[in-house]
Amino acid sequence: MELELKPITLQGVDPTKPMIIAGPCSAETEEQVMCTAQELANKGIKIFRAGIWKPRTKPGGFEGIGAEGLQWMQQVKKETGMYVATEVATAKHVEAALEAGIDLLWVGARTSANPFAVQELADSLKGIDVPVLVKNPVNPDLELWIGAMERLNQAGITRLGAIHRGFSSYDKKIYRNLPQWHIPIELRRRIPTLPIMCDPSHIGGKRELIAPLCQQAMDLGFDGLIVESHCNPDKAWSDASQQVTPAVLDYILNLLVIRKEKQTTENLHELRSQIDECDNNLIEVLAKRMRVAREIGTYKKEHSMQILQTGRYNEILDKRGAQGALCGMDADFIKKVFEAIHEESVRQQMEIINK
Ligand code: PEP
Ligand code: MN
Repeated sequence: MELELKPITLQGVDPTKPMIIAGPCSAETEEQVMCTAQELANKGIKIFRAGIWKPRTKPGGFEGIGAEGLQWMQQVKKETGMYVATEVATAKHVEAALEAGIDLLWVGARTSANPFAVQELADSLKGIDVPVLVKNPVNPDLELWIGAMERLNQAGITRLGAIHRGFSSYDKKIYRNLPQWHIPIELRRRIPTLPIMCDPSHIGGKRELIAPLCQQAMDLGFDGLIVESHCNPDKAWSDASQQVTPAVLDYILNLLVIRKEKQTTENLHELRSQIDECDNNLIEVLAKRMRVAREIGTYKKEHSMQILQTGRYNEILDKRGAQGALCGMDADFIKKVFEAIHEESVRQQMEIINK
């Protein structure tokens, strides 16, 4: 299904610059909301975010202040002139948020993973023209993410955008949620006119990662950023470790290098043809490797050997991982590449053995 999209233009927000949304993870108290909003507005931020209803992994955490916080959002609008944004997860949230004049809604990662919940939101938004940003589902499933946006689009929401907030994983090393950049990049390829924002706060899970993630998002051509900012981050009632003060956020944003989307220099053209040549060579070498693998397959068949020789496989992974690291590549990356190559070799040998 093709999405019918209109740009999310907000009066007074420069459409030629990345869209920046900032504010605390949660609205906690009137004072916290107002002081954070005021400081952000003083730094030139035009769109304020705060969670009013918080989906928490376990009961007992701060589940959001609820409808009471909507008045503070109205006050933010009135006193700072900023647009205000919040997360909605149910039809009731939508109704209350719109009634309070919330300018921009977002669908959280736990909600976008649930088609029933998204459909309920879509139904409640029928006939209403409000910008809606859809966070990627917690699991790395691009179709589910696109499906959520299709549901909203079918309900008539055309000012749509996506938010990349990373993907849950058991294997938490650096990031709270793995970026898996190839997924938003594929989303861009599939729906080129859809604005995609990056949420470095939920990807990183810690303050130090906000700046590099913001830069990476800009280098990858993202359309904007949604960053958690709190007037007293260490005392935040939710997501304390990933929030930054408005002053730190301003510092980070000022250091961002925004590169022009398309370089017209001959240089880049030349470099690109070099890449094409490398890719060509890669394919040729891979094809040659597969031919050899098939010959090995024939040998194994003639000698009734098993296809999978674990010792040899481990040797390849270890040796090439170490070699790759010496050449300045991530050993895990090399391991993945060789795992994929090996899988295809095994598939081709199976074909020969079962012939
Ligand atoms: C949030 O933005 O505070 C939030 C709950 O994010 P996510 O849905 O990405 O976990
Ligand atoms: Mn949060």
